[in-house]
Amino acid sequence: MREYTEGTKTIVKKVICNQCGKEIKIDDSTASAEWLAVDKSWGYFSGKDGETHSFDLCEECYDKLIRGFVLPATVEEQNELL
Ligand SMILES: [Zn+2]
Repeated sequence: MREYTEGTKTIVKKVICNQCGKEIKIDDSTASAEWLAVDKSWGYFSGKDGETHSFDLCEECYDKLIRGFVLPATVEEQNELL
């Protein structure tokens, strides 16, 4: 769950994991924080047409989630640009 700075819809003030309720430390910037942010706008062919669902998971809860997958998440090494 994201709380935004008053009057904005883009400047994140606080992030709380929807699964465990732990606050995800973002300090002064979201750039230094790691978590899974999901924003899904459901379309016409779903049972949730016109709804946008959002949630946030801390890294520990993300790990628990993917351990429940029948097929593992695809993991690729990121190539850092030098
Ligand atoms: Zn969590």
